[in-house]
Amino acid sequence: MASEQFFDVGANPIQLKLDRMVFMSRVFNFSAGPAVLPEEVLKEAAEEMLDYRGCGMSVMEMSHRSKTYVEIIRTAETDLRDLMGIPDNYKVLFLQGGASQQFAAVPMNLMKNKVADYILTGAWTKKASKEAKMYGDVRIVATSEDENFSYVPDCSDLEISDDADYVYICENDTIYGNKFKTLPNTKGKDLVADVSSCFLSEPVDITRYAVMYGGVQKNVGPAGVVINIIREDLIRDDVWPGTPTMLKWKTQADDGSLYNTPPAYGIYICGKVFKWIKAQGGLEVMGKRNAEKAAVLYSFLDQSDMFNGTVRAEDRSMMNVPFVTGNAELDAKFIAEATAAGFAELKGHRSVGGMRASIYNAMPMEGVQKLVEFMDTFEKANRA
Ligand SMILES: *Cc1c(COP(=O)(O)O)cnc(C)c1O
Repeated sequence: MASEQFFDVGANPIQLKLDRMVFMSRVFNFSAGPAVLPEEVLKEAAEEMLDYRGCGMSVMEMSHRSKTYVEIIRTAETDLRDLMGIPDNYKVLFLQGGASQQFAAVPMNLMKNKVADYILTGAWTKKASKEAKMYGDVRIVATSEDENFSYVPDCSDLEISDDADYVYICENDTIYGNKFKTLPNTKGKDLVADVSSCFLSEPVDITRYAVMYGGVQKNVGPAGVVINIIREDLIRDDVWPGTPTMLKWKTQADDGSLYNTPPAYGIYICGKVFKWIKAQGGLEVMGKRNAEKAAVLYSFLDQSDMFNGTVRAEDRSMMNVPFVTGNAELDAKFIAEATAAGFAELKGHRSVGGMRASIYNAMPMEGVQKLVEFMDTFEKANRA
């Protein structure tokens, strides 16, 4: 029905009537990724779908070498640089292959001495370290696996390898819901961080990182784009000898991420999200809002007799909030009733069980408040 109403067949047949689109039926989407995007961004993209600003075509249909598209990608980069305060000696690359591709690209591009130190805080560092082992000696210098990654180890005085090419972390583990509140003391070594699920969630000091990268489908845009921010001196020719052209960062750095066809439409949406964040007041405002949203959910969990958070209080993520009842049947009942009530994608990852609420930038406070009200009602109705 909605699709029949989508077009106005009156004066201008391709005029979209957005006011008639059924946005009212959107759910509160707590998916870990691909995840909720700002409604304003989706509406604007819909308006531009058939005719991007008088071009007579969609951004999806446009040459990536066209003047119009080059302006889209360069504007996206400029806006991201503004938002994050990225210094001139860092390159910004828009790549493909997801964050998982970078698990190999990082050692290929950086392992000169063939040694790297990894800190294990969950599923993503396990995968990344396993991949890096194909290219050199990977040393696990700290881990929280002993307690199912429910905390972040103390990284203030680790035994960092003298010959380590870099120290690697996943700053926010999307699955276990832990977050580095202070970056590790790398003792002068370069820090590489997978920031997929905390990208643009709060202000950051880029100069603390040598390389930061993230798949955008968590907090920034549609799946298919990964953004790398790399200190210039690490973009080099002397990479691991078998490195494919496409995985060598220098290839894309030399061509402004246009060596080959980029994930053009995805980058365009990311650009809109950057503009949206800027209009909201930037990363300071994002960080403040995200802290407020997380506080509402965590304070409910802290006083609840039924629902419990799974991560040590000081290491809790603002973005991904896993919680359990301790009873698999009750978890399943809660998820089913929550889904029916319009709270989508709350099922936890199989390695933690229970529930997980991902409350990224585009999740409004209202969604978190309504979820907490729903949990409270459920708890009262299902008290033993
Ligand atoms: C989702 C995720 C990944 C994997 O991303 P893909 O784009 O699917 O490869 C890696 N790291 C973190 C922290 C993630 O959240």
